[in-house]
Amino acid sequence: MRILPIPYPDELIYSVIARYGVHFGRTSPKAILDDIFSDRKIIATIDLPNQLSKVSNQLPALTDYSETNLAYKHTFFPIYAPFTLESRKHKCLKLLSNRSQGSVHLMLGISASRVNKNITLKYCPQCLDEQLQQYGEYYWKRSWQVTGAECCLKHGMLIDSDITINSNHRHAYFAASPEHCIRMSQAKATPEATAVTTQVNQLLSQPPICSPTFTQWSLFYKQMANNNGYGKGESHIKHDEIKQLILNRWSHRWLKKHGLELNNKDTSWLKTIFRKHRKSFSYLEHIVVLSSFHDPDSNNNWDICKVINQVSNLSCSTTKPDEKTKNHIDIKTLKYHQNNWKSLVSKWGVKASRHRENGGALYAYLYRNDKAWLLKLNESYHLPQKTINNRVNWHKRDRQLCKQLITKSKIIELKLEHPQFTRNWYLTQLSSSSNIEKHLDKLPLCNDFFQRYCETTDDYQIRRITRSIQMLRNELINTSRWRVLRKAGLSEIRLTNLARHFLDNVIGDIIE
Ligand SMILES: [Zn+2]
Repeated sequence: MRILPIPYPDELIYSVIARYGVHFGRTSPKAILDDIFSDRKIIATIDLPNQLSKVSNQLPALTDYSETNLAYKHTFFPIYAPFTLESRKHKCLKLLSNRSQGSVHLMLGISASRVNKNITLKYCPQCLDEQLQQYGEYYWKRSWQVTGAECCLKHGMLIDSDITINSNHRHAYFAASPEHCIRMSQAKATPEATAVTTQVNQLLSQPPICSPTFTQWSLFYKQMANNNGYGKGESHIKHDEIKQLILNRWSHRWLKKHGLELNNKDTSWLKTIFRKHRKSFSYLEHIVVLSSFHDPDSNNNWDICKVINQVSNLSCSTTKPDEKTKNHIDIKTLKYHQNNWKSLVSKWGVKASRHRENGGALYAYLYRNDKAWLLKLNESYHLPQKTINNRVNWHKRDRQLCKQLITKSKIIELKLEHPQFTRNWYLTQLSSSSNIEKHLDKLPLCNDFFQRYCETTDDYQIRRITRSIQMLRNELINTSRWRVLRKAGLSEIRLTNLARHFLDNVIGDIIE
């Protein structure tokens, strides 16, 4: 039987389950957990609840309440997803469907994040009134609970309810009600709250967007600093001036309250975001920096999702080695020589031109002063080579191969006993694999596939642990830690940190 009430727009899964309790008069938290999850150890999680497949199973089948849809529309997933790596995003979605017990928080960097977490559930009294009129009951909105998004854009600052997150009632779901949400007047929204809420709402309402790589984020921040006069030379960033820019927009008190205070240490988060990215930064860190770089008057007229799209389209191979020298030479002379070379090449081709008239000298001059332009032009006159390359339609080939790979991965997806799904393993499943390996640079779709679906050691160990536990449980054998490890062919020493964390949680029943 499908028993859960239909989620309202932007309603937390937590709230849907709480309303279920109210609708069916289930006052005991254990009874609710039994009904929905058949598992009393589930924690009532606000931000990223797991076991979404069980929630999805309790909702009407005809409507689209798939696990992915639930994750994007009724959990905090969309505020973390664009800032983690694309491959990790897909793993997290899988984990959210099942019993992940804290591993998603770990993988998305939330457990270790410096951003302070909200302590209580929050609400907007006037929105609650509107909900009561429209739906006949209250519910907890997701956008009210995101750290930093402290206001309702329509009515003003949010109010703290008396429900503490992660308190002693870890297994209980409290429905929004007049008892917990007292009707009181709201303060006007502060500029900080408005700036964050505007962007958080954009993130929450976006369909899935592609996550940029760390290299793309690094390049983006470097370019942003340079384009706004905060760069000095090739790689120097004027950190002090950027710090001042942020402090002009965000009060010290606000930054401190959210765990983002600025200092002059080399490890300050603001400095690291302008260096090479080695880990994900949180939505709040990005919003604080990005909005400071936008014109204060149009502060809320920018859209973080558009920025993310722009970053994920950045090409990181673009190098401009000649940019520096170009400034020191006479542009007019350069143009003159470029035109001469162009007319020579169009007549004689690249090789022959170097031996004609003063072709050799022209070539040398342009090579010294604008190599990128020269090579690009010459390339377009290398006709014979081009014809050879065109013989294989790599674009078409890429699509065909990727289709084969996806079909293969669907067949083996649920085979828990399978050896590690490495890139090499996938390659061996294709005909002429060595030839394909040599041309991977021409096969972006296949590369994407490998990025997403190849298993890391973490994944592989977690799969082996899962399989061992399943087998032991089927045989009704006690799943003690040593038995699981032995069955999985693993040892404490060989375990990766993530697999150890996973095992600790599953075996130790230590939840989040
Ligand atoms: Zn409101």
